Amino acid sequence: MRAAVLEAFNQPLVVKQVADPELTPDGVILKLVASGVCRSDLHAIHGKMCMVQNFPHILGHEMSGVVEQVGSNIRNFKKGDRVIVPFTQGDGVCPHCLSGHNNVCDNSQMVGMHFNGGYAEYIHIPNADLNLLHLPENVDFLSAAAMGCRFMTAFHGTVAQGNVRPGEWVAVYGTGGVGLSAIQIAAAAGANVIAVDIADDKLAFAKEMGAVATVNSKEENAPQAIKELTKGGAHLSIDALGIQETCLNSIMSLRKRGRHVQIGLSSNPNGGMTPIPVNLVLGHELQLIGSAGMPIPEFPAMLNMVSQGKVAPGKLITKHIALDDINAAFDEMVSYGGVGVTVITKF
Ligand SMILES: [Zn+2]
Ligand SMILES: [Zn+2]
Repeated sequence: MRAAVLEAFNQPLVVKQVADPELTPDGVILKLVASGVCRSDLHAIHGKMCMVQNFPHILGHEMSGVVEQVGSNIRNFKKGDRVIVPFTQGDGVCPHCLSGHNNVCDNSQMVGMHFNGGYAEYIHIPNADLNLLHLPENVDFLSAAAMGCRFMTAFHGTVAQGNVRPGEWVAVYGTGGVGLSAIQIAAAAGANVIAVDIADDKLAFAKEMGAVATVNSKEENAPQAIKELTKGGAHLSIDALGIQETCLNSIMSLRKRGRHVQIGLSSNPNGGMTPIPVNLVLGHELQLIGSAGMPIPEFPAMLNMVSQGKVAPGKLITKHIALDDINAAFDEMVSYGGVGVTVITKF
C-alpha cells in the first residue's frame, strides 16, 4: 500500500510503497476514505509529546473508512461496514474502561502513535470490537474524519467536562480545528460564544461556526475585552491551543466560580509546566478541568447531533488534499496559515 512514512524525527514524511498491515484475531483492517491532518502530528514529527518509538512509523489519527477484513474474534463488524475511528483506544478491562472512561485507560493506545496510523491506504485497528464505531448512514466520511480527533475532543471538553449550559458565556481561545469545533458545539447547546485568536480571517470563520463575538488578542487585552462583553467574565472558558498565554488568558477571562477547560496540549517542558494565579483560582472559586479525547459512551450523543444536522463537523474542512501533498500541509501549519481543517481524500 501507499503510505506517508516518518523515518526519523525532524524530517519530512516520505510517501512510498510499504507492506500492507497484517490482520490479528481481535483486529480489523480498514480501507481509508478520509484522513485528517492534525497539529498533534506536526508535534510528533518534531519528536515532541510523541509516543512513537520505532521507525519507520505511519502517523495519522483522525480517519474514517470501510471495513476490508475482520479478525476471527470480531463480532461487531463485517466487511463493507462504514466506520469512524476514535483516536484514544482502551483495553476494555482496566478500572477506567470498566467505568466508561476508556479515554483515560491505564493501557491507552493512541492510533497513529502507539501503532501505525491513517496516513496510508489501509490501517489495522487492534481490539476493534471495543474501539471502533459504526457511522450512521447519513453521516459522510469527511464529517467522520473531522470527528475522530478534533470534534470529539471538543465535544467531550465542552459538554461533559465543561458542562456547558444554555445562555452561558463561553470563551474559546484558539480557532484551529478543536476551537472551531468547540464553538459549533457550545453554540448548538445554546451558549453565547466568544472566539479569541490573533488572525482576522480565522475569527471571521469562527463567526460562521456560530460565535456571537470575536476578540483579536493581538489588538486588545482578551480577558479584559471578554469581561466587558460579558459584564463580569465567561462562565466557561476553553483553551483550545495550549500555549502559556492562552491558558493563562482563559483562566483570567472567567467570572467568579467559572470553569476553565484545558483541551490544548502544551509543549512546555516537564509535562507542560505553566504558571497560573492560584490565589485567583482560590479567591474566585474557579474550576480548572482537564479534557482528553472522548470516551466511547459519549459518541452516540455526538453522532445523533451530527446525523440530525444540529452540528456539522464537515463544515470545518476547508481543504482536500492527496497523500503526496502531506508535507505542504504541515508546512502551512508551522506558519499557522490557512483556516479550518485539511483532510486527505486521495491516497
Ligand atoms: Zn488530531
Ligand atoms: Zn482500560
